[in-house]
Amino acid sequence: MFVIYIYMSTDKKSICIGALTYIHSLLEKDYEVCGNLFMNSDYSEKCLIPSDMLKGTTILESERGSCVYKAYSPYIFHTHPNITLPYPSFEDYVKVMKHSEIKHSIIFTSIGVWNISCGDPIGKEEGATFFHKNKLSYKNSRIENDLYYSVRRKHQEPTLNVHLETYIKNVTTYFKKVNMTIRFDKIDLEHPYYI
Ligand SMILES: [Zn+2]
Repeated sequence: MFVIYIYMSTDKKSICIGALTYIHSLLEKDYEVCGNLFMNSDYSEKCLIPSDMLKGTTILESERGSCVYKAYSPYIFHTHPNITLPYPSFEDYVKVMKHSEIKHSIIFTSIGVWNISCGDPIGKEEGATFFHKNKLSYKNSRIENDLYYSVRRKHQEPTLNVHLETYIKNVTTYFKKVNMTIRFDKIDLEHPYYI
């Protein structure tokens, strides 16, 4: 009988507390900020800090913002400021399907942090086709509806949690073919955020 030991790295990457506080403060702005997360070169603190940060266009009321990344790396992030929708957009999901170099896309919002990964990316071309084919059906699928109204009505726990759970389940099912994983955490500025 063979026993295979798989080395599990306990060296999980985290976002530095200082970086978390800084990115969280960007939620007050009327534009998105996007960038990459790289290991802090100051080895006294082994955690990720933002790099290549760029500003998106000014968000007008009830509109989604957009921010164009300079380049993609395994850990990318962007903000959905307080004035906009606090959950990932269809574009956000398609981005990780298209670019296999992205391992985690972290989205900071007014209700918490989203962490999305695609297990089976389909590449740029197929991803672009998927986007155009499904953009409208995704919108019409009402996947976001309950969460949208829950946020608009400023629901607190446990009502919001129920809607968050349903949303995550529905989105995971929608993107089942590409093995999408979605995680949601409340923002805790006292502790590093483990990716
Ligand atoms: Zn987004």
